[in-house]
Amino acid sequence: MDQNENPGLGLDTPPQKGEAYRVLARKYRPQDFTGLIGQEALVRTLSNAFAAGRIAHAFMLTGVRGVGKTTTARIIARALNCIGPDGKRTAPTIHPCGVCEPCVAIAESRHIDVMEMDAASRTGIDDIREIIDGVRYAPASARYKVYIIDEVHMLSKQAFNGLLKTLEEPPPHVKFIFATTEIRKVPVTVLSRCQRFDLRRIETPVLVAHLKAIADKETVNLEEGALALIARAAEGSVRDSLSLLDQAIAHQEGAAISAESVRAMLGLADRGRVLDLFEKLIGGRIAEALTDLSDLYDRGADPLAVLQDLLEITHFLTRLKVAPGAEGFFDGGSGEAKRAAEMATKLTVPSLTRAWQMLLKGLFEVRDSVQPLKAAEMALIRLAYAADLPPTDKLVRDLMDGSSAPAATRSAPAGSGGVRAQARGGEGPAMSAQRAPEPTASIQNAPVLRTLEDVAALAVAKGAPVLKVHIENDMHLVSLEQGKLEFRPTARAPRTLAGDLAQKLKEWTGLRWVVTVAREGGAPTIAEAKKNANAAKLESVLQEPLVRAVLDRFPGAEVIAVRDLAHDDIATETQEPSEES
Ligand SMILES: [Zn+2]
Repeated sequence: MDQNENPGLGLDTPPQKGEAYRVLARKYRPQDFTGLIGQEALVRTLSNAFAAGRIAHAFMLTGVRGVGKTTTARIIARALNCIGPDGKRTAPTIHPCGVCEPCVAIAESRHIDVMEMDAASRTGIDDIREIIDGVRYAPASARYKVYIIDEVHMLSKQAFNGLLKTLEEPPPHVKFIFATTEIRKVPVTVLSRCQRFDLRRIETPVLVAHLKAIADKETVNLEEGALALIARAAEGSVRDSLSLLDQAIAHQEGAAISAESVRAMLGLADRGRVLDLFEKLIGGRIAEALTDLSDLYDRGADPLAVLQDLLEITHFLTRLKVAPGAEGFFDGGSGEAKRAAEMATKLTVPSLTRAWQMLLKGLFEVRDSVQPLKAAEMALIRLAYAADLPPTDKLVRDLMDGSSAPAATRSAPAGSGGVRAQARGGEGPAMSAQRAPEPTASIQNAPVLRTLEDVAALAVAKGAPVLKVHIENDMHLVSLEQGKLEFRPTARAPRTLAGDLAQKLKEWTGLRWVVTVAREGGAPTIAEAKKNANAAKLESVLQEPLVRAVLDRFPGAEVIAVRDLAHDDIATETQEPSEES
């Protein structure tokens, strides 16, 4: 396709001025098996097969999207067809040279004997018949004719049947490489004729080390924590992690990419700070909790992400209660993990399940709200207020006993007396906790997406931070209506962006989405718009007489952030350039 890396090296010099920007995922695409990180089992098995001269006729590569199935398929095709730098190699090799004509042509997807086909777009028997007919003829120049069929599970039943005959008795000069994300949809009859490889998600530490090596080569400075955040968000996909790294580099401000800026890019909140927030909520300290929330928001955390983190903390604490030693949300042994464990001992399971329900309800409200921050505040206020109330089981018991429930009556109209008053008094937080939200019902109401910000928020809500980053940074929106979205991608956008987005939107909204790519036009990206707005705000603040006086008084000081305070005055932070905030 459109890659043009120095073959064999995989890693070359950074692009010169004027040269088109090449995204890291493409620049560092592995060229041979040694560059394929985290797939040792596959490499070992293939090496043995090649060494023994027992190479399968068909391979089936499975794994989630982004683990490197297509890349692996191309490397296998090269291994089969490499003729060596001197053109004299006569047999397949597990170490393709990367510089001979077949190697180069295959890497660029233009080798006449290596056919790549996407079964997602060509599912019919006619498409397969084309292949079956071609199989009979010897390769034009290569050792083997190689058919790479991506998303093979999408083929129709008829197409599979057609393929099966060829798979049963393939001519010796033909190899098939299938790739799929959904192995269970591939008929067993086909599977049984393939050598199967399960490509794994790359473990976070391995991914961090890989990113570190690439960052060093690109002479990019990153905080350790920043890499870990990127690796975790990429969920084991090298491609995703590299494209996030690309974005982080593009938006770098200052000497090094900080963990905080990556967190802001991903819309994540600092977990330690979310734990603080949770502690305040559970303790009923409403005002402090709201300050925390707005502070997190100012630092770029999405209100939805904050609620999700609160839910995760609740889940984590509840698990700690029923099965001590459970880990997950916090890195084991960290200060936060210890604090959480302490917190868990003070809380009851009923109060935690109540918090869970209230937060879950809040999550749906925030997701569907046009003012997510306000919706989040309301959800937190309810939760903090409910913290004062006795657990619902106690309320019910008190009702049955006919005794009074002091905490619940405080908002009840005075003098209405007795059991009825208690029930009405509970109409506030207690009842909303009891009337458990029904998440399934909420999910069925497909969210209405009016703006690209809505789409980004939905991606966050659905736990797709990588896609969220691309929506905010890589899409110039041309038009958006229900079921239809058109955008112009930036140079950094992954080529799969439109397809990925269409698939996810369908999954999330239950509607069919057509996502098209425009060549020109479109609004500034969300990230650009935010940056422009901030710049404009900063500019206007710099015109304020007070600010100018301060800047005159402190030579070398600069305004680094503008924050709106509650009372509508504009506050500025002035800081010596040498100090880090
Ligand atoms: Zn070669």
